[in-house]
Amino acid sequence: MDNDIRQQLQRHGLQVTAQRMATMRAVAARPHATADELTSDVRAAIGTVSRQAVYDALAILVQNKLVRRIQTPGSAGRYEDRVGDNHHHLICRHCGATSDIDCAVGATPCLTAKEAHGFEIDEAEVIYWGRCPACREAAAVSEKVDTRTAPTAKLATAARPRRFARDDHRT
Ligand SMILES: [Zn+2]
Ligand SMILES: [Zn+2]
Repeated sequence: MDNDIRQQLQRHGLQVTAQRMATMRAVAARPHATADELTSDVRAAIGTVSRQAVYDALAILVQNKLVRRIQTPGSAGRYEDRVGDNHHHLICRHCGATSDIDCAVGATPCLTAKEAHGFEIDEAEVIYWGRCPACREAAAVSEKVDTRTAPTAKLATAARPRRFARDDHRT
C-alpha cells in the first residue's frame, strides 16, 4: 500500500512526506473520518505531528483529488479516498454514522442537472439523511420501555430521565 500511495503522490507531482503518507493511510483505514479523528490516527502511527500539518496534508490531497472531502451541513468535513466515482452518502441524523451509497440510477446521472445555469458541473453531492440501524434499535427499545411504564403516572415520571438521556445522546 505504501508503494501505491507513494506513486499516487508522485504522479500528482507532490513531494512524498511522512505526513502525507500517514494521512493517506489514515484516510484509507477510516473512511468518512473528520480531520480531528485523522489527526489522532496519524499521531498514533508516526508520533508527534502538529494538527496543522495534518490539516495541510488533507488540503493538498483534496486539491489534487487524491482524497475527497464531504461537507455536511452543521458538521465537520469528512474525508475518504474513494474518489472520482461521484458516489453519495447515507448519514444517520442521530449519531452521524456514514455509509457510501452508489448513484440511484446508473453512473453519474446527477451530474446532468436540469438547468446548469452556465456552470460547468464536476460534482453532485447527494446526501440521504435518516436513522441508522443501531439508532433505530435503540429508539425501539426505549419506546418499548415508555409504553410499559405508561399505565401509572408515577412510573411514567420515573421513565422520563431515560427519555432525556436518549435525546442528549442524539445531539
Ligand atoms: Zn445512528
Ligand atoms: Zn464515501
